[in-house]
Amino acid sequence: MSTVAIPTVTLKAGREKSLKRRHPWVFSGAIGAVGQAPDSGATVELRSADGARLALAAWSPSSQIRARVWSFDAQAKIDAAFLRQRLASAIALREALPVARHTNALRLVHAESDGLPGLIVDRYADVLVAQFLSAGAEFWREEILDALMELTGCEAIFERSDAEVRTLEGLHPRAGFVRGEHAAGRVAIHEHGLQFRVDVAAGQKTGFFLDQRENRQRVRSLAAGRNVLDGFCYTGGFALAALAGRANSVVAVDSSAPALEIARENLSANPFDASRLRFEVADVFAYLRSLRDRAAQFDMIVLDPPKFAPTAAQAENAARAYKDINLLALKLLAPGGLLATFSCSGGVPLEFFQKIVAGAALDAGVDARVIEHFAAGPDHPVALNFPEGEYLKGLLIVRAW
Ligand code: SAH
Repeated sequence: MSTVAIPTVTLKAGREKSLKRRHPWVFSGAIGAVGQAPDSGATVELRSADGARLALAAWSPSSQIRARVWSFDAQAKIDAAFLRQRLASAIALREALPVARHTNALRLVHAESDGLPGLIVDRYADVLVAQFLSAGAEFWREEILDALMELTGCEAIFERSDAEVRTLEGLHPRAGFVRGEHAAGRVAIHEHGLQFRVDVAAGQKTGFFLDQRENRQRVRSLAAGRNVLDGFCYTGGFALAALAGRANSVVAVDSSAPALEIARENLSANPFDASRLRFEVADVFAYLRSLRDRAAQFDMIVLDPPKFAPTAAQAENAARAYKDINLLALKLLAPGGLLATFSCSGGVPLEFFQKIVAGAALDAGVDARVIEHFAAGPDHPVALNFPEGEYLKGLLIVRAW
């Protein structure tokens, strides 16, 4: 076998510190000398200014995150076998989770936190949805797809490499079946006994918000006898969980008509009294305001808005939006009522989020207490060397009196 020399990338003096802590990203400003110009996504060897071999990484020439580490073992060989092993270990981790017995929909690969930077793979029954979001993941696309088919025995893979972050990597959007086929449109999944339809082709993200599974269960366990408002309901995940938990009534609001169309299908796919759930196509901000003007009250409110601040730079604007909706929701809450409020903004850490909600309670003139914290489920692990992997946070708040 011929050995092809791996291009060497030498960091500026002192810029190896984060790699020594095993953080997998190298920013463009840390790059010193680059040997021969590596291809986009090709493997490079990262060295400190004094020549120490630190890691093997994927080269992203267009991105501010110029290199993403595959392995901190500079002797490793990054090839199909290496990737297959990483994939196998990510899949084994999910198979060992107790929740794997209660659903056939799980995140199998959570990018950096599974040692596979830029790769997301969600399993919906026998269909996988894959996102290749970095130059390195894109470089090994075929090898990854082959290994996924073999390791999971799934019948098809739908690629949803249409997320905006791909443009930062200099990659074009791509979507469609890349292995096998599945009847167009919906994949039927189940989660804790509830049936859902997932639109892998046109749904948001990869089609379903798997990260909220455990939190939907929590809401279900608290919903009995309550009048519930599900704000930003998408395809009705929390709304159906509340019905399953014997909520008295549920109003579910989203601005996306296609999402609500699937939400209605999801309602019919489950044995609930449909008259207890009402869907509203509306902007949640305006809808909450109109409810306030009518002095409406709820015993439980869920707020699961989209990512207002993908990065810290947008955190201030996002804070205003989070404060608005939480202030309105707290005002609509009956004494003893529960608010499950979420943020999936990477740029808004938990402490900041809690501060925003505290400000909202203050301005609403409402006495409220945090009784639980929420996070993404265990199929969305957070590598300890990659705190950025933790993006979803939530608070369960009770209005005191
Ligand atoms: N809770 C859902 C996921 C919510 S995702 C679940 O468990 O599946 C966020 C949702 O917010 C999306 O469905 C999106 O269509 C909706 N959305 C975004 N901005 C909105 C707005 N201003 N008003 C209402 N819905 C909005």
